[in-house]
Amino acid sequence: MAEMIFKYSAMSGGKTLNLLQTAYSYEENHFKITLIKSIKDTKGKNCVLSRNGMSRNVDILLKENETLLNAHNYKKYYTSKVILVDEAELLNKEQIQELWTIAHLINIPVICYGLRSNFKGEIFSEGVAHLFAVCDIIEEVGSTSLCECGKRAVFNARKINDKYASDGPDILIDDGTKKDVEYVPLCSYCYLKHVKINSEEAKKLANLVAKIR
Ligand SMILES: [Zn+2]
Repeated sequence: MAEMIFKYSAMSGGKTLNLLQTAYSYEENHFKITLIKSIKDTKGKNCVLSRNGMSRNVDILLKENETLLNAHNYKKYYTSKVILVDEAELLNKEQIQELWTIAHLINIPVICYGLRSNFKGEIFSEGVAHLFAVCDIIEEVGSTSLCECGKRAVFNARKINDKYASDGPDILIDDGTKKDVEYVPLCSYCYLKHVKINSEEAKKLANLVAKIR
């Protein structure tokens, strides 16, 4: 039976490029693929775009509570060699469970690309928690996402009007239309320094560390 894979990284980690290269390899060899993304990802509209200019049209632009297990969507993917999902963190838990079912009962491999954590440094969504729970393989995409200090980036910090934000709505897409929203990949140390340092929780932990050192 087929497997379901979750490939994660921080922002700018090369996820979309990896997805598009995978799509290209299959299609170059005349294998059908199905590319899925959530309608919540307004960036690129019904297209998946990588930073280096590669792009491909989406086959299923999945609505918030839309099922993949209906005849209409089944017709789109049932002959596919692989199902690729971009920005999988935007899918809900039920949709992730359906993809898992497609891999294991319909025998189509599924590769989900997405973020692990949100700008608050917490698991991005129930969907991501479920990806970690059920995927057969979980791996980090390369290590191309670098922090400003040169270390590997782990966190996705949000900047509003050029200032780091520690609170706000869970999902705020930087689709180029909101000039004040920006995401910055940071390593753990820089994330702590820039984003968490003023929180009560971080102050408490820093005090504890100062006491024991
Ligand atoms: Zn850093």
